[in-house]
Amino acid sequence: MRRHLRPSDDQWQPPRRSSIGRTVGLLVLLPVLALTSPMTAEVPPYQAEIDRRAAEVEEQVITWRRDIHQHPELGNREVRTSGVVAAHLKSLGLDEVRTGIAHTGVVGVLRGGQPGPVVALRADMDALPVKELVDIPFASQVTTEYNGRQVGVMHACGHDVHTAVLMGTASVLAGMRDQLPGTVVFVFQPAEEGPPAGENGGAKMMIEEGVLNDPAPDAIFALHTMPAPSGFLAYRPGGTMAGSDGLKIEITGSQTHGAVPWGGVDPIVVASQVILGLQTITSRQIDLTAAPAVITIGMIQGGVRGNIIPESVEMEGTIRLLDPAMRDDVLERIERTAKSIAESAGARAEVTIEPYAPVTYNDPELTGRMAPTLERVGPMGAQIVPAVTPSEDFSFFQEKIPGFYFFLGIADPENPLPAPNHSPYFSVHEEAMLTGVRAMSTVAVDYLHGR
Ligand SMILES: [Zn+2]
Ligand SMILES: [Zn+2]
Repeated sequence: MRRHLRPSDDQWQPPRRSSIGRTVGLLVLLPVLALTSPMTAEVPPYQAEIDRRAAEVEEQVITWRRDIHQHPELGNREVRTSGVVAAHLKSLGLDEVRTGIAHTGVVGVLRGGQPGPVVALRADMDALPVKELVDIPFASQVTTEYNGRQVGVMHACGHDVHTAVLMGTASVLAGMRDQLPGTVVFVFQPAEEGPPAGENGGAKMMIEEGVLNDPAPDAIFALHTMPAPSGFLAYRPGGTMAGSDGLKIEITGSQTHGAVPWGGVDPIVVASQVILGLQTITSRQIDLTAAPAVITIGMIQGGVRGNIIPESVEMEGTIRLLDPAMRDDVLERIERTAKSIAESAGARAEVTIEPYAPVTYNDPELTGRMAPTLERVGPMGAQIVPAVTPSEDFSFFQEKIPGFYFFLGIADPENPLPAPNHSPYFSVHEEAMLTGVRAMSTVAVDYLHGR
């Protein structure tokens, strides 16, 4: 059901071309700027070791990613993937490796040699019901049944990259364990794209099963691939990806002949008025300068024949918000608009909200702390990008503890029009993964050191 209500979640477009162009252009200037940048003076003593260890593990990360890419698994079915992850974490001699969390999730705990805070790093492991059309030797040939249909399965959202990068990060940090002032929790999450119909799963279920207890992380980090040039790092303070709620509205009127509308109450005309009324919430009622909002009706169903006015009409839609504080107000306006318009015609409106995920909200203080880290490790520095309206269930972790979620460009820099996430043509320039490992390792170590 969730899937039905959010068919294109976390499928976003690349940042505007002009901003990428500026970044690539800046690359030429970077060696000069770096000499005078105040960041240069602040490179911590452990950065060179992180970079060396990341370079050592790079080939393995690419191998892992190709293996996972060739064997993609849908949400709550990541059996093989989580087996590969758990075996690797155990081989590193972590203090704890827990499996079977929220079905197929894996959690590893690495206690450093010195006391300090606890930081969590998260990667999602699930693939999508998409048939791969990328011409690579390790392209997915996997098919499976999904919602009663036979579908191809593909890592079309880059979660193979996230998983391999976090496995590599575990290698880097395990190698530095004696020097780490604190604890690192590696969270490998199932079903970010939503569990199959009728099942629970994802970040919310991991939290319910105690992933944020014992040890309790003080902060959590994650990255996500995006179709920007390879190695491009991007982030945004505050609302970064939209909160998402599914919306169902049933309008009940009174059935009559199409030639005699006064003999009943026409729910199709009422539904039309409700749809237009909902659009005035975003365009006329909320403060557009505070944060954008989207209300979409994507499905409308009613009637069987042109000359019969039906008894009822069903509609489904999605609500996307970037400011968590706006949610209660917008939901109340939706309910009031639907019910009042229906009432004015003598019909009834039943409104059901199906929450999917809160706003992916980067804690401003934590973001301010970690932005210099991304600036330091990014081959092109790091850039603040506009918010996007797809959703991401990392937001459930961020509701509990401060979290920072950033983007990693994975497109071939020569490709002017890289395919977006969820496309059957989504492809990865694998050199980007080294930047991913350096970024994840460094945000963790910087955080533990209180930087
Ligand atoms: Zn996705
Ligand atoms: Zn994704």
